[in-house]
Amino acid sequence: MKKNSSSKALPRLILLACAALILIVLVVFLYFQSSASSSNSNTSDKGLQGVDAISYISYGVKTIDIDEIGKKLISSEESQANPEESKEDKVDEEDESSPQNSNEGYESENVQSGSSTENTEATVDTSVSETTAIEPEPEAEPEIPADTTFVTDNGFVAVTQGGITTIDGTIIANKTYSLPPTYDPGGILPDAWSAWLSMSEDAAAEGINLFINSGYRSYYTQERIYNGYVYEHGQAEADTYSARPGHSEHQTGLTLDLNSFERDFGSTPEGLWLDQNSYKYGYVIRYPQGKQHITGYIPEPWHFRYVGPSLAEVLYNGGNWISLEEYFGVSSVYQ
Ligand SMILES: [Zn+2]
Repeated sequence: MKKNSSSKALPRLILLACAALILIVLVVFLYFQSSASSSNSNTSDKGLQGVDAISYISYGVKTIDIDEIGKKLISSEESQANPEESKEDKVDEEDESSPQNSNEGYESENVQSGSSTENTEATVDTSVSETTAIEPEPEAEPEIPADTTFVTDNGFVAVTQGGITTIDGTIIANKTYSLPPTYDPGGILPDAWSAWLSMSEDAAAEGINLFINSGYRSYYTQERIYNGYVYEHGQAEADTYSARPGHSEHQTGLTLDLNSFERDFGSTPEGLWLDQNSYKYGYVIRYPQGKQHITGYIPEPWHFRYVGPSLAEVLYNGGNWISLEEYFGVSSVYQ
């Protein structure tokens, strides 16, 4: 009798154990799902302002939605006119060692956190754009300013030649002075690249890990990015955080966005190291704190422009950064 009841109880026990196991697995699965989604939303609205915000949104997450919107806004002729275009979205960290092909639209996969909200919005908008199929207005060809020489407010001689303005040998790309679409170094220029290599190696020796988020961007890449923002938010708003094509410093081939697009990057060990050391390698913080009314852009502690060590030291100004506009005595305002 005893033996009989225990042999009946055993399969029942096994059945109960199996049911309990399935229940536990289900609960654990649901828990991880909910915690994953809540951690995404916690970081969703960080670091998305500024002239570089678009790069973050475009490449920081797997679905490159805003980029896709931008692509839709560019006519197929323009794409054909720029066979490089199709390569630009590729993220290839192996290319980093080569200055000529490393930075065309380069965005690091290291940017993982944040932007889930924006991504969601972009996803929604993409589907809208697909269903409504709004045709973009044809882009007007940019007017290349006539060759000229002028003296700046601070007495520097500025030369505009072929649409490119240089002051004392320094190329100026801001809201006043643009670059023509034909200005296309194709990547980060050699001096800037070797300075970057020295800087990142020296930083690494001090335990500071620097990496490139965004480097060279062609006129057409910037056009695509900017159009995406105009499409989403209108031109007035887009102009507050995204450079118009031809006006981005990234087109110079002398500009790197490093590590993070977070507004508080400047107070991280990496941001502080760069703030105090980048000038030694010829890089400057291009949009310093408190200079928005002069540079036209909010502070960007991640955006570094190569100007060479001697000018960089002047602009560093003992830690109280001066902008290029202040130093040369030029404006940064759309005409
Ligand atoms: Zn930048």
